[in-house]
Amino acid sequence: MQDLLILGGGIVGAGVARDAAMRGLSVTLIDKHTVGWGTSSRSSRMIHGGIRYLELGDIHLVHEALAERAILLRIAPHLVHPQPFLFVLDPGEYWQWFRIGVGVLVYRALASRHAIGAHQPLTRLGLLRHEPLLSSAPLAGGALYQDAHGDDIGLVQSNIAAATNLGARVIENVHAQVRVLDNDIEATLPDGEHIAARSLVIAAGPWTDAVRAEIGLPDRGLVGGTKGSHIAFSLDRFPLRHAIAMRHPDDRRVLFCVPEPELGRVLVGTTDTETTELPDDLTVPPGEVTYLLRAVRHLFPALRLAESDISARWAGLRPLLRQQGAPSGRTREHLVLREGNVLTIAGGKLTTYRKMAEEAVDMLGGILGVNMPPCTTATVLLP
Ligand SMILES: Cc1cc2nc3c(=O)[nH]c(=O)nc-3n(C[C@H](O)[C@H](O)[C@H](O)COP(=O)(O)OP(=O)(O)OC[C@H]3O[C@@H](n4cnc5c(N)ncnc54)[C@H](O)[C@@H]3O)c2cc1C
Repeated sequence: MQDLLILGGGIVGAGVARDAAMRGLSVTLIDKHTVGWGTSSRSSRMIHGGIRYLELGDIHLVHEALAERAILLRIAPHLVHPQPFLFVLDPGEYWQWFRIGVGVLVYRALASRHAIGAHQPLTRLGLLRHEPLLSSAPLAGGALYQDAHGDDIGLVQSNIAAATNLGARVIENVHAQVRVLDNDIEATLPDGEHIAARSLVIAAGPWTDAVRAEIGLPDRGLVGGTKGSHIAFSLDRFPLRHAIAMRHPDDRRVLFCVPEPELGRVLVGTTDTETTELPDDLTVPPGEVTYLLRAVRHLFPALRLAESDISARWAGLRPLLRQQGAPSGRTREHLVLREGNVLTIAGGKLTTYRKMAEEAVDMLGGILGVNMPPCTTATVLLP
């Protein structure tokens, strides 16, 4: 009998597997695909507090995510790197210069002792000194602030490796039939093997409600994801040296252009739209490509980037907590729901996965009736 069965091997399930194994629990993790196949390999790869969320007044989330950013920079220096950003403003947004200048200082203050590097307002000339490629851009000025960039799928694999090194079993490409019985959990694999466990964690990202329905748990409509598309250009064609945060010229949404020298490309993203597509079959619609391309061409007109220059495109479904309102305004906070010996983790971000896992494993102590040792994932290096 295992202490814990985890359904879902994205960053959240992988983080739970590592934390639980580090606290001495016996763990089996099952993923329907390969680990990291879902949202956790389709993100914008930013390990960030989310300067955008300041506008939404989500101070708690920004503060928590900035603390997690500091932890990931410390425990995974091979996967997460500091990344300075230039927030650029169009001439029509001149009045926002003071606001963004104050915004980056608040962002720095929220990072408190975890702050990295300089945060300051910049004039047009100051921006050009940092990123000469902006010389043809319509610019009123902007600001410099600091965040981090990470290898999303690398973080999943690293957490999985840490868990398996401690004895966890990871089963990929298997769709298990799972039943919640009176006192335990039973998973039946397609080859007939039965796995019994004393507790279950559902960490299935955008599949959360579907997995709960399969198991026969009540329909709580936990996740209401929005789709995000990205495009990428080779660094040869788009030789950007500095990461840029900008507003889209049409709807003023914040977008990012991030150089990824390790992949030889510049990532541009992302969109945030309602979709009826299933997370298994996501597409990048032509309209979203046009939208992203328009923003890049607006800021870098001299490059004359065209659709034929796009070297990669991908989309993911954000497993956000279900909420009304505009997609971009929905919270990135998370929830760990307990129903008997079953925990469901919903919402959150790549950046906050470790904290989400810690909360869930802390709750497992009560479910299993054991005195759980404290979490050490914030201090032990990831492999
Ligand atoms: C476009 C986009 C950009 C983003 N950018 C950022 C960013 O820059 N920074 C940031 O912090 N966050 C970002 N996020 C959010 C972040 O990527 C997600 O919050 C995170 O990856 C979700 O991880 P997860 O483990 O919950 O879900 P997933 O990674 O989707 O994992 C769920 C897993 O469950 C598995 N599964 C499904 N059904 C079953 C089943 N029946 N049995 C077993 N397993 C099953 C799937 O195969 C999958 O592997 C972004 C998200 C999107 C969509």
